[in-house]
Amino acid sequence: MSMIEIKNLHKWYGDFHVLKGINDHVDTGEVLVICGPSGSGKSTFIRCINRLEDYQKGSIIFDGKDILDKSVNINELRAEIGIVFQQFNLYPHLTVLKNVTLAPQKVRNTPREEAEETALKLLDRVGIHDQAHKYPAELSGGQQQRVAIARALAMKPKVMLFDEPTSALDPEMINEVLNVMKDLAREGMTMLCVTHEMGFAREVADRVVFMDGGEVIEQAPPEEFFKNPQHDRAKLFLKEIL
Ligand code: ADP
Ligand code: MG
Repeated sequence: MSMIEIKNLHKWYGDFHVLKGINDHVDTGEVLVICGPSGSGKSTFIRCINRLEDYQKGSIIFDGKDILDKSVNINELRAEIGIVFQQFNLYPHLTVLKNVTLAPQKVRNTPREEAEETALKLLDRVGIHDQAHKYPAELSGGQQQRVAIARALAMKPKVMLFDEPTSALDPEMINEVLNVMKDLAREGMTMLCVTHEMGFAREVADRVVFMDGGEVIEQAPPEEFFKNPQHDRAKLFLKEIL
């Protein structure tokens, strides 16, 4: 069963037509890698899925329900569809532990002790349980990004969106974040990952989606996409990043 269905999605920023009719469906447990040149609409697309951006035409169905339906609570939606950004966006004035426990307490009404217990388990899972009482600025970029992942997971999301989660990291920290993402993928999380980490795509993606100019130009399983891209724009893109 499809967890997310995207039907003829169009978005304009003012006069600028940024998404030009995207259609897709994402199955439960599926891992998508979305790639394409800068400015092709990748961030805009995934931000529409948890309503960080509005759109003017088409629909997004999540778990059988249109996300614009009046009965959909936007905070619940964002809890179920977690997102991790390029810039980690942690709350700088809160400890790591508080960063992870805040939303479950506020949105899910989880009691503090339970939220902390879950948070410590998640921090352990992403390899930084010993950093729980530090502030974000005391952590490396790779550690901060793993906190951001733990924070999203604390809401027990059904889907995780990643928007170039390793692009702001020093090279030696990229793998520690990718490894956490690979584990998640292997554990069956449904994931849409905007990334140019093609090793990651090869290892865990079920499908690579190539966007250009606000459209999905091509999509294929990774081995097929890398070996035999069909469109010139995809060929050029691969030549530039590989
Ligand atoms: P990508 O993530 O693929 O680099 P984006 O989705 O960020 O692409 O942006 C797609 C296009 O939309 C770009 O041309 C960008 O300049 C434009 N854009 C992005 N955000 C805004 C905004 N808030 N207002 C106007 N234009 C925007
Ligand atoms: Mg982007």
